[in-house]
Amino acid sequence: MDTRPQQPGEIRTTCAYCGVGCGVLAQPDGAGGVAVRGDPAHPANLGRLCSKGFALGETLSLDDRLLTPRVLDVDTDWDTALGLVADRFSQTIADHGPDSVAFYVSGQLLTEDYYVANKLMKGFIGSANIDTNSRLCMASTVAGQKRAFGTDTVPGTYEDLELADLVVLVGSNLAWCHPVIYQRLAAAKAANPAMRVVVIDPRRTATCDLADMHLALEPGSDVALFNRLLAAIYEGGAVDAAYLRHVDGFDETLRAAQAQDGRVTGLTPAQITAFCDLWTRTEKVVTVFSQGVNQSSSGTDKVNAIINCHLATGRIGKPGMGPFSVTGQPNAMGGREVGGLANALACHLDLEDAVHRDLVRNFWDAPAMPEGAGLKAVDLFEQVRTGQIKALWIVCTNPAVSMPDADMVRDAIKGCDFTVVSDVTANTDTARLAHVLLPATGWGEKDGTVTNSDRTISRQRALMPAAGQARADWDIMSDVGRRMGWTDAFAYTSPAQIFDEYAALSGLAAAMGRDFDISGLTGLGQGGYDTLMPTRWPVTMRGQTVRFFADGQFYTPSGHARMIPVAARPPVAKTVPRFPFRLNTGRIRDQWHTMTRTAKSPRLNQHLGEPFLEIHPHDAAALGIAPAGLITVTSLQGRCILRALITDRVQPGQVFAPMHWTGETAPTGRVDALVASVVDPLSGQPESKAAVVALAPY
Ligand code: SF4
Repeated sequence: MDTRPQQPGEIRTTCAYCGVGCGVLAQPDGAGGVAVRGDPAHPANLGRLCSKGFALGETLSLDDRLLTPRVLDVDTDWDTALGLVADRFSQTIADHGPDSVAFYVSGQLLTEDYYVANKLMKGFIGSANIDTNSRLCMASTVAGQKRAFGTDTVPGTYEDLELADLVVLVGSNLAWCHPVIYQRLAAAKAANPAMRVVVIDPRRTATCDLADMHLALEPGSDVALFNRLLAAIYEGGAVDAAYLRHVDGFDETLRAAQAQDGRVTGLTPAQITAFCDLWTRTEKVVTVFSQGVNQSSSGTDKVNAIINCHLATGRIGKPGMGPFSVTGQPNAMGGREVGGLANALACHLDLEDAVHRDLVRNFWDAPAMPEGAGLKAVDLFEQVRTGQIKALWIVCTNPAVSMPDADMVRDAIKGCDFTVVSDVTANTDTARLAHVLLPATGWGEKDGTVTNSDRTISRQRALMPAAGQARADWDIMSDVGRRMGWTDAFAYTSPAQIFDEYAALSGLAAAMGRDFDISGLTGLGQGGYDTLMPTRWPVTMRGQTVRFFADGQFYTPSGHARMIPVAARPPVAKTVPRFPFRLNTGRIRDQWHTMTRTAKSPRLNQHLGEPFLEIHPHDAAALGIAPAGLITVTSLQGRCILRALITDRVQPGQVFAPMHWTGETAPTGRVDALVASVVDPLSGQPESKAAVVALAPY
């Protein structure tokens, strides 16, 4: 690891990919190339990078970049394209009302882009029909934390993992999906041989290399395991009675936990007892959870089942303790903070709260604020399909591949009256369906901020000029806002200006008792914004607070945390003779989302070069599937063809496929075409890890 401080010519920025939010020192060579290394001064990575981060410089070529606006596949100028977008959105709203239009945005957007998109839709168009691909990533955590804490507050920090004596990883393949945190955890474990790591995952992932205990529970049964843990905490005398004065709901939650049958986990009583004993007797415990928890029809309950155990023991808000959600995307957290979800407003304010709405309406001088939540992602595309959404703007994401029931979503977008796509490339399944294509700046050209999984706000900085005529997303959105008649509200000329407005709003929200406060970062000016170092919020006018909940104060009306009684529910789709296999989907180490960037790097493509299906040897033998043979995978929703990877990493009856690929020729990796649009009723997050499928040799 190169630990030299920033050298002359190096630009301090942040990685484009996962929610770890690693700092990068980038040195442009003046000819379009960039050398990168980890930033030793960034608190998330302390100089480390993973394979994707190291390859950032290999992904900047202009091959397949969208360089000019296009209308109906014909190059045009910005004035024509944005004039058409503003006219069509205005006319659609005039004819059919504000809820006939929608934005679908991305956790890859910078905070300033996100802020402007939300302000335009929720304050000026007058609809809440803006949702984000973060709905697919961590909406269940948002819903669970709001139920427990009153706000979507992540109490933990990365340092807590290193300070813990027990780290429990639930539904998290940290080694591949958050590699630098895995590296930090591995180093901490090496330095502290007493540290224990438990992995809870139906699949034996690379993360299990670090595990002292791997619990391969039944898919979707996490609530049952954590309910058994809560019962064991009580029976073992590990309840923190003093802390419980800050907590409501203990008795009813305990009763629900004690009624839970642990057998649904598929684990042996000895395994459950060993886990509960370890957790109960270890004071410093961090429970990390990720997509295996979130992407579930009971995702919110899973989050609360985990938080319940930490509240009962008072193991929260203290060094080396707490529940800790790790997010998938680089700015999923920033999107949550800025109100990127259809039921949220900026600064962790709630759209459905009249007082919160009034605060934002007055601050924005907004003419048309909706009073209820908008359409969450799955419902949004359903209304595109039925024609209720007549104008759709998709920004920086590829839902025709990544949404569940992806073939339906692709066809819905294709049938929409008017579709706008802003992206860096025209070469995605979604961009190919657009009536208007708008070239956006990409990593290395963009300027703004992101927030990582432990609340650290970092700057992404431009290293090079924008490609072709590409413009920043905040700039494109602001231009359309002005063309729709809101000249003053969208008169932004820089991301620093937007950030300043956002920080000022956070001060008002905090004065109302909300958690998100970056008012201490107001008035930075362009110079202060340009030199802003990574900063963990909250940053109030009085200074920075490192830990939430250390004082037992929460953001509920009573000021207490809430324990939530929950009972395990199996995945909605049941295996049946026609569809006898349970399909788990997820990421691989060296690709990102639908591969628009990472597939440009030959080095990254060498890791796993084509779509595949992990299948247990017994199942492969029973079906006559040979190693590396092609398998047709079908569900009620769709079909794809994958290369067999025969391994006992998956259990019999279960299969795993990565979610990155698309394509028309075998193997075809449109895995989300197999996944039903089943969602968690509270969070609206799809159940992306528990489809049921049939397999046959191709
Ligand atoms: Fe980028 Fe995540 Fe890798 Fe860090 S761990 S270098 S943020 S992909």
